[in-house]
Amino acid sequence: MTQAVQPRETMGRLPRLVQPYLTWVTGVPLDGTYQLIRWSPNKAGVLGIIQIIGGIALGAWAMHPLAAVSIPTLILATLLTTGGMRRLDVVVVHQTLHRMFAKSDRVNRVVGELITTVMWRTPYDENRREHLLHHQFPCSMKDADTRYLLSTGMRPGMSRREYRRYIWSALLSPSHHWTFFSGRITSNFVQAKPRYRLVMSLAFLAMTIGFLVLTGYWVEYLVLWLLPLSVCFQGATFLYTHTEHRWWIFSNAEKLTKRERDLLTFGRVCGEPVPGPEIEGAGDRARAWLVWWFRMLVVHSSYRMFVLVGDTVQHDLHHIHPNCDWANSAYVRSEDIATGSDRYSEVWGSMVDHLHEAGMVGPSRDQVLVRSTRAKAGELARGGSHAAAAGLRPI
Ligand SMILES: [Zn+2]
Ligand SMILES: [Zn+2]
Repeated sequence: MTQAVQPRETMGRLPRLVQPYLTWVTGVPLDGTYQLIRWSPNKAGVLGIIQIIGGIALGAWAMHPLAAVSIPTLILATLLTTGGMRRLDVVVVHQTLHRMFAKSDRVNRVVGELITTVMWRTPYDENRREHLLHHQFPCSMKDADTRYLLSTGMRPGMSRREYRRYIWSALLSPSHHWTFFSGRITSNFVQAKPRYRLVMSLAFLAMTIGFLVLTGYWVEYLVLWLLPLSVCFQGATFLYTHTEHRWWIFSNAEKLTKRERDLLTFGRVCGEPVPGPEIEGAGDRARAWLVWWFRMLVVHSSYRMFVLVGDTVQHDLHHIHPNCDWANSAYVRSEDIATGSDRYSEVWGSMVDHLHEAGMVGPSRDQVLVRSTRAKAGELARGGSHAAAAGLRPI
C-alpha cells in the first residue's frame, strides 16, 4: 500500500514535546523541525557506555533482594545492557572500521580493539577486512553476513509460517548460539591477530577473573554481563542482520549495477500512522489511540533500544554515503531525499515488517508501508517480488 501522507507526517499534529521522541523512534524527522541534540561520534559512544552501566546498575538493584518484582526489572535491565552493547558494536566499532569514528586511524584502531576485547568480538583487522567486503560485494557469497544467515538455516522463498518457525528456532537454538559464541572465543583467544590483540584478550580475561575472585560477584557476572553479552547480544545481532538488507533479491550476485545495489538496502523506519478521522465514536477512537501509543512505546521503542540501535535505521544512507555525518544520519538522509536524491527506499512498520521485507516472505506485502522516492516508489510499492519489480531475474 502506498501512502499519500507518510506515517511520520501524520504524527505532526501531536504536541511538540513528544516530537524528538518520535524522531528517535521512527528514525525520521518531521519536515521543517529543528534538531534538538546535535550528535557526535563521542556522544554516540558515551551513550552506549551509559546504557550498559544503567542496565547493569538496574539489574544489580533488582537482584538485591531478589523478589517477584525483580523479574520484569531484570528483563528491562537485560534489554538495556544488551542494547548498549549493540550500540558499541554496530555503531561505534562499525564506524571505526570505516575510520569514521575518529579522524586518526590510530584512534579508530584503539577504540575498535578496546571494545572488541571487552565484548569478545572479532579483532579489528579481520573485522575490517570482512566488513569492507560487505560493502564491496553486499549480499553476495563473498559477504560474511550472507554466509552467516545461510548457516542459520535461512533459505529464501519460505512461506510466512515456515519463516516464523525458522526465526524462532534459530533464536532459541543452542547450536546456533554455541557456534556464534565459540567463534567469538576462538577469534579472541586462539586466532587473535596481531599478537598485541591476543595479549589484550588475555589481560582482560585475567582482570575479569581477578575481579570475580576478589569480590565474589560470580552470579551477578553471569546474569548481568555474560547473559546479555552472549545469548541476548547474539539474538539481537541475528535479528538485526536479517533485516539489514534485501539479501536475496539478486540471487547473491557479485556484480550489480548502482541501482541494483541501492535496492539491496532500505531505511528500516519504525512506526505507523496515527489513528485517522475515519475511526468514529469516542470509544473506538480511544482504543485506537491506546493501541497506537502502546505500539510506539513498547513494540517500536524496544526494537530501537535492543536491535535497531543508533544510526542503523538509515543503513541505506550508510551504503550510499559511508563517509557522511553518520551520528546525525536521520537528518542527513532526510536532507538528501529533500534535495532530490532518488536512491532511497524505506519500509515503515515493525521488526516483523522489516524481517518480511528482507527475507522476501509470503505473497502478501500489503501490510508493509513502502515508500520510496521517485521512480523507485512505483517499482517497490506495486508489490510482487523485488526482482520482478526491478525487471531482473527471479530467484
Ligand atoms: Zn559499513
Ligand atoms: Zn550493510
